[in-house]
Amino acid sequence: MRKKIFGLISIVFLGTHLHAQVNVVDYTIGVKDTAKHLFHIEIDYVNTTQEDSVSFYLPKWTPGYYQIMDFAASIRNLKFENNAKETLEYILVDSSHWIVPVKKGETVHIGYDMLENKNFVAESYVDGNRAYILPTNLFLYNKQIQFGKNIRVRVLKDPSWPNIYGTGLSLQKTDASTWDFTANTLDDFYDSPILLGKLDSLPTFYIHGIAHQFVGYDLGNSQYTQRLMSDMKKIITQAIDIFQDIPYQKYVFLGIGEGRGGIEHLNSSSVSFSGNSIKNENDYKRVLSFLTHEYFHNFNVKRIRPIELGPFDYQTANRTRQLWISEGLSVYYENWLLYKTGIYSQEEFLNTFADAMDIYENKPGHLIQSLASSSWNTWSDGPFGNLSDTAISYYDKGPVVGLLFDCAIKYYSKGKFSLENVMRALYDQYYKKLGRGFTEDEFKNIATHYGTKKILPLFEYINTAKEVDYNKYLNLLGLKLNYTLQNGKKIFHLTN
Ligand SMILES: [Zn+2]
Repeated sequence: MRKKIFGLISIVFLGTHLHAQVNVVDYTIGVKDTAKHLFHIEIDYVNTTQEDSVSFYLPKWTPGYYQIMDFAASIRNLKFENNAKETLEYILVDSSHWIVPVKKGETVHIGYDMLENKNFVAESYVDGNRAYILPTNLFLYNKQIQFGKNIRVRVLKDPSWPNIYGTGLSLQKTDASTWDFTANTLDDFYDSPILLGKLDSLPTFYIHGIAHQFVGYDLGNSQYTQRLMSDMKKIITQAIDIFQDIPYQKYVFLGIGEGRGGIEHLNSSSVSFSGNSIKNENDYKRVLSFLTHEYFHNFNVKRIRPIELGPFDYQTANRTRQLWISEGLSVYYENWLLYKTGIYSQEEFLNTFADAMDIYENKPGHLIQSLASSSWNTWSDGPFGNLSDTAISYYDKGPVVGLLFDCAIKYYSKGKFSLENVMRALYDQYYKKLGRGFTEDEFKNIATHYGTKKILPLFEYINTAKEVDYNKYLNLLGLKLNYTLQNGKKIFHLTN
């Protein structure tokens, strides 16, 4: 069942309070021309540095999509002005870096349009029906804004855009012309997509009193959308059980319409979604699996994270050898959680691994590139591995290695522990206690703590491209792997 989002605005009001502090920056955004896919942005910034010039930047990537992008190519009519409305001549250092002569203590007004016509989850988008605002694509920043506090974000109203959902932002006030939000820091703002338009919602569910919502554009209405939230409740309950904690005040799936992909955030995920395109049970399970993956990231990558993934440098590739943990193990747990809740049969669960092996074991790259190296090189290889077959994707090999770890830890700990203990320990130790990411050695120490030193040979399957002896570990739990040859390709079969 779907309903209109009456009352969403009042939900956003809950738990907010007015800030008396000075804002480090005021951002304003409005839709300029829906037919031309244009936003207009204005920024007011007071130069609080001791310099008479300020470097402004636009991010070159957005967290969750580990590729250098050319967001600055969307900028039109960029203008920097002083208080007297005089145009300030800037120096363009590179495509996303401007040095602007602003005297210390003076205000600079920045105005520009952004052309956003690509319907893709890692980029903002506007048309006649909705506006998806992904702040990393759109808003210039500087070092003072990045490390300062109190970001004010004003969204201009338009009669054809009745609803707004600002994930992660606090709505301070609204009147006939604007919605006024605040974010504590720039990282919080950049992690908070906003959706404008005629929005719908699916029924909210609560776990330990915490609301889980699905809000979006064009959600559709079918037997599948009606079941979706009760199935997601089962899955998310199991995920929370792994960590024994709910780290957010509210979680929302933000449905941005039909399109490609999803991006995780601390308390939300932006998901390409159209309920009416779910035609059968297989489509439906694929959607549940996709939503589970994005949800699981709130634990695994937004909170449990490789040490290199934060604080972010938005100007360059933030390379790590451990994306296989953030992405590959999120795929492992998306499969595991669907199995644990009975949505996947055991056969369907095991087939997910055989299907992944079919992909990477048939690529020459499986003997060339390690999991660690595929993590490191994703910035140049592309999000799913190098298409020239000299690489692999951590989305494929990562969950299979996750399964081997789970088998080995369960067996060598005599059934006392599993990979879940490793995930929970990473969460407790590095997110909750130390408030930082973990190193490769720290991951290894925690994994061997639960799985004993007998699991050490498994690390060769992370750090080298050595042929994997799957059955050595699968057999420990009674699983068997074999393959048949079809047209020269290996087709894998994983059975119990
Ligand atoms: Zn992912």
